[in-house]
Amino acid sequence: MRHWILDSRVGLRVLGMFALAAGAPMLLLATLSQRTVDATLARGEAALIASTAKSTSLQTLERLRVARQSLDLVHPRANQAVAHGVAAPLLAVVETDKLGQRRVVQGGRRAEALLSVPLAEATAAPSTRLLLIDAAAPGAPPGIVLIAYREGTARLGLIDPAFLWDGADELPAGIWLCALANGGQALFCSDDAVAETAARRLRDETWAARGAAAPPQVVKGLFLGADFAAPDWHFVAGPDLGAGSAAAESVRDTLPIAAAAGLLLAFLLGLVQTRRTMKPLVTLAEGARSFAQRRFGTRLDIRSADEFGELAGAFNEMAARLEAQFAELEALAEIDRDIVGHSDLQHIHARIVGHLRRLLPQRRVAVLQFVDAGARRALCLLAMPGADTPQAQALDLDAATADRLRQAPDWMPLDGLVPWPGEAEPGTLVLPLRWRDRCHGLIAIGAGPADELDDDSLRQVLELRNRAAIAGSAAEREQTLWREARYDSVTGLLNRQGLDEQLRRLIAAAGPAQRTLAVVFIDLDRFKTINDSLGHAAGDQALRGVAERLRQCLPAGALAARPAGDEFVVLLPDCGGVEHDGATALAQAVCDSLAQALVIRETAFFLRASVGIAHCSDPQQAPEHLLRSADHAMYQAKRQGGGRYAVFDARLDARALRRAWIEADLPLAGERGELRLLYQPRIDLAGARMDAVEALVRWQHPVHGLCSPAEFIAIAEESELIEHIGRWVIDTACAQVRAWRDQGFARLRVAVNLSGRQLASERLLPDLNAALARHGIRPTDLELEITESLLVEQTEAIVARLHELRRMGMTLALDDFGTGYSSMSYLRTLPIDTLKIDRAFVKDLGHDRTSLAVARAIVALASSLGMRTVAEGVERGDQWLALESLRCDEVQGFLFSPPVDAPAITRLLSAPPDWSALRSGETRGASPATVG
Ligand code: C2E
Ligand code: CA
Ligand code: CA
Repeated sequence: MRHWILDSRVGLRVLGMFALAAGAPMLLLATLSQRTVDATLARGEAALIASTAKSTSLQTLERLRVARQSLDLVHPRANQAVAHGVAAPLLAVVETDKLGQRRVVQGGRRAEALLSVPLAEATAAPSTRLLLIDAAAPGAPPGIVLIAYREGTARLGLIDPAFLWDGADELPAGIWLCALANGGQALFCSDDAVAETAARRLRDETWAARGAAAPPQVVKGLFLGADFAAPDWHFVAGPDLGAGSAAAESVRDTLPIAAAAGLLLAFLLGLVQTRRTMKPLVTLAEGARSFAQRRFGTRLDIRSADEFGELAGAFNEMAARLEAQFAELEALAEIDRDIVGHSDLQHIHARIVGHLRRLLPQRRVAVLQFVDAGARRALCLLAMPGADTPQAQALDLDAATADRLRQAPDWMPLDGLVPWPGEAEPGTLVLPLRWRDRCHGLIAIGAGPADELDDDSLRQVLELRNRAAIAGSAAEREQTLWREARYDSVTGLLNRQGLDEQLRRLIAAAGPAQRTLAVVFIDLDRFKTINDSLGHAAGDQALRGVAERLRQCLPAGALAARPAGDEFVVLLPDCGGVEHDGATALAQAVCDSLAQALVIRETAFFLRASVGIAHCSDPQQAPEHLLRSADHAMYQAKRQGGGRYAVFDARLDARALRRAWIEADLPLAGERGELRLLYQPRIDLAGARMDAVEALVRWQHPVHGLCSPAEFIAIAEESELIEHIGRWVIDTACAQVRAWRDQGFARLRVAVNLSGRQLASERLLPDLNAALARHGIRPTDLELEITESLLVEQTEAIVARLHELRRMGMTLALDDFGTGYSSMSYLRTLPIDTLKIDRAFVKDLGHDRTSLAVARAIVALASSLGMRTVAEGVERGDQWLALESLRCDEVQGFLFSPPVDAPAITRLLSAPPDWSALRSGETRGASPATVG
């Protein structure tokens, strides 16, 4: 807590001024009066001193004269002569006779001092002299002796100082007096301490002043020459050295006290006045400060009737206004935050109603929100005065009311427009909530005391109205955005996001072990034709037509979506399970419906649909998984020719997934260097040596590992991809031949597998030629293997190509012979050099007679046609022996080597093993996957 004076400059300044204003004159006055008093007193004192000195000197002369008289009169026995009722003037008296003998007349021992006093020559004329003799005691004043000479005798008298100085020490207060003889010898001093001062005054005439204002010391001479033939005595008087006069003292004592008291009074008055000024000032300052810290509830408690009171009143008034204004701003800001934060509209309305109640506590207030475009249905939040909480209710408005509301001006009497609970109140006001010239709600305010709805509250009501309007429009906008984000603009069906959300919701809602949710995936088989031939507008029209047909097929509760292009999805929350499947019924209905012609721009299109169905068997299932399953089923339907539906089978799923990644990744395998070429030796039985190798491709997938060509070649053959792979294989094989040639192996030939698609391609011959030329090898270094089944549907073009290949110098082998639809007739017409006996016939050789018979027939056929035979899949020695006995030309199989990489073949070439030793029957088995 600040001290209201010590910590306040103004306080200190005011107090200081007060002290100065009161203190300075006071001090001046005190000094002046002190001076005046001092001067006056000094003047009086000086006169007193002078008169005292004078009177004392005259009195002393008088007493000396009395003493002379009494010396004359003294009677030897009249020891106690008394004059004027005072002490006897003489202490002792001594008389001389004519002979000069001295005799004590009076005084006893005290007279002894007189006995030795020198006397002058006695004269005839009587005279009196005064003499000073040594003091009876050291430090005491000298004795004063009177000597009266009479007729030859002398009489000596010692004057009693008590007589002489009686009353001399009863001086006025503050005055001292000394009687001095012989220019400084003290005869009497009213105060022993001043004897020296008096002597000095007499000697130097200097002022032994007490101060500038002190009265002077006075010297009064007493002429004794005439009466006593003695030098002058001097009387010195002066003011008291220790203190001034009593009057001066008292003035000096009282003045500072009075001044201090005055000052203190002034200070206290100043303090009181400063306090009265500062206290409200400090309160005002504190109020302003707390105000600055946004404590608008601050009120000042200053009840004085002066300007401070007025100022405090004004401050409090301002504070009240600001408090109200800030409360209002805060309220509006809260609503703004709600609007920006996308709060629920009901919540914002509740807030607005709350503020309206606070503003107009004695009126009923309501916020209405139309829930339909026609403004016929509304949600109303109504607050009655005195009721605890506002109540929400749904309202139905008649057409006329809705109409009036829509055209209402900004501010109109309600006149029973809205069903207002309780009696109809005249004076109820309605403020429509408008946005883009559309009234989407209103604020209604019931009748009440007029002073409640002053300009200020009216302004606030309008502010709240504006907020409500903005909130309503924001909610509407948000709804629109929400819709746009979830619905397809072309068909009005759910879009991908909407589908995803609904699917999640339905999956979560489906209880465990309830296979009731079905996802139906619909793909148009021939939509592309419309887009391509008539453009996108027609395409959109077609999509709308499809959506319409789809809607007609939907059972209650089903949801339709168009997640992309010409794909549609229907969600059946309750399809009735797999047995009584509503999904298959729907799928069939959709297929039938879309099989009907769709007329676009006078052209009939038969779009047809392939439909896939997946059931949700697991509430934990991911929506995308479910969709993919339906998608797979749809593809299956499409593969089966389209225009039909298929139900997803989980067992197919794993294969489908594998197929999916193969399809996705295979096109990139070549670029990424994931393809490798292995070589499997073919052993010539006659020479027991490796004359050829078969090139076999491998795909090392970075994630899924090694993938067998038996798997991916089939998939590659579905598209042009096989040609890319085939081209890579031919080029790699040729490069390898080149390498072996360069290393000095002149004989080794490489057999390369050709797919049907490659064979059908125009590019095969140019590609082969290019590869041969690029690596500088001869056509005879290559053998091309063609699967027998390829030749079943032989076309003239293919046959011509085979002849061409032959002409170029390459040899041709018929692969997997015996598994296809072998017909002897084509064998004769085709330019085949080698028959490769399929593994199926080799497998049981050595123990199965039928296999041996078939193999023998093939070898016989081949030799009759002038072809060589190669047996595939030789894994055991007995197979070899059997093949040898059949005069098969070559053997190939794991017994000799699995497919291995080129360096391994190089090693076999450099250091050929004794192949014939393998004939002994031992089995070498290896899976190709473990090699290379
Ligand atoms: P294919 O042309 O009949 O190739 C022989 C297959 O038999 C190879 O399987 C080989 O590893 C395997 N094999 C060799 N000896 C034995 C054995 O003693 N026992 C057993 N059980 N199997 C043996 P691979 O390499 O998996 O190739 C499978 C098929 O993939 C090939 O059959 C061929 O039709 C195709 N293929 C492989 N590479 C290519 C290629 O570069 N182009 C084309 N178009 N097709 C290829
Ligand atoms: Ca082959
Ligand atoms: Ca084969």
